[in-house]
Amino acid sequence: MEVIAARTAETAPVLLEMPAPSQPAAGQVLCETLQLGVCGTDREILETGTPHVPDGDDFLALGHECLGRIVEVGAGVEGFQTGDLVVPVVRRNLETPEVQQDSRLQQRIARPDLMPWGTYTERGIVDEHGFSQPHWLDRPEYLFHVPEEIADVAVLTEPFTVTEKGINEADLIQSARFGLPAWKEHPPRVLVTGMGPIGFAGVLGCVARGWPVTMYGRDAEDTFRVELTRELGAQYISDEQMNWEPDNLEENGYDLILECTGNDHVMMNAGRTLRSCGIMVWLGSSRLPQAASHNVGAWMRDGLLSNHICLGSVNAAPRDFSRALEYLVQLKREKGAALDRMITKRLEPAESLWHYQNREPQGIKTVLMYGT
Ligand code: BGC
Repeated sequence: MEVIAARTAETAPVLLEMPAPSQPAAGQVLCETLQLGVCGTDREILETGTPHVPDGDDFLALGHECLGRIVEVGAGVEGFQTGDLVVPVVRRNLETPEVQQDSRLQQRIARPDLMPWGTYTERGIVDEHGFSQPHWLDRPEYLFHVPEEIADVAVLTEPFTVTEKGINEADLIQSARFGLPAWKEHPPRVLVTGMGPIGFAGVLGCVARGWPVTMYGRDAEDTFRVELTRELGAQYISDEQMNWEPDNLEENGYDLILECTGNDHVMMNAGRTLRSCGIMVWLGSSRLPQAASHNVGAWMRDGLLSNHICLGSVNAAPRDFSRALEYLVQLKREKGAALDRMITKRLEPAESLWHYQNREPQGIKTVLMYGT
């Protein structure tokens, strides 16, 4: 079977042949990929030329944003049947003796997303082949059921889980400071920086909760992504209109910033628009960060005096998968047309290689359609 792969020391994606998986062993299921999202992480893996390849291979089959279907169920599997739609999780713990004997790590073993580097694999990203494989074996504990009514947008689940984790962690931290649940009575004013898929996923999470949300970006007013931002129920503020030093910060500032550009200049500026006790969640970053000069001292001073929190967030917890799927069902009902428009391109895997190195202007999510 043909897969889309990143090869060591190469920056262009390649189509490679891999043996198809065998029948599922006891406790396993065999799945087929129906749809696969292309993500900034795929592009970065390629750009660096150093994919984390599985042991013994010199390539990594890409693909971690997947909608799949179960085609065969191994002995002893409960709760999953042939034909079920599923979304697989990306990260899985490595159950090494070191991890098993480390009580500090055992404390967070149910949260692979909180485990340190070296204690996990990520399908399609770190040491395990991903879902550009048309067929793959998995274990039911790594799969989430997908309701048929969201089959056409469920490929957005994984990026949605990433922002869902960030929002939920911020909510939990704020509630620990203010009392539960901090943002129920007073919904936070949210700023999302960045108009890529993660930025849009952040907007979805806020809209689904009924929170006021503003998207910041560089797009001109009469363009598709700005239109879509508004159609989803968010406000849009362009770089030209943005005032990084609001007059009355307590009035006009933000309680929650979802930083999705990965750009340190935007991040530093955005930090100045946080109200007291505001939280900034870092959801984007560069694999090849460049040195820059910023007045970090002033930023620390403001952050300290205002009790700000900066929260790094990667991957997602099981809870975030369940919640992202629930929100997709809700949003499909409430804003179905806008949600569909987040998928800006659908194409066959063999035609998709250009998209692994380039972004289309005004594109949001490119999705590969398998077996069509
Ligand atoms: C994925 C995460 C993953 C992260 C780091 C992101 O693109 O969505 O699941 O943990 O990359 O590898």
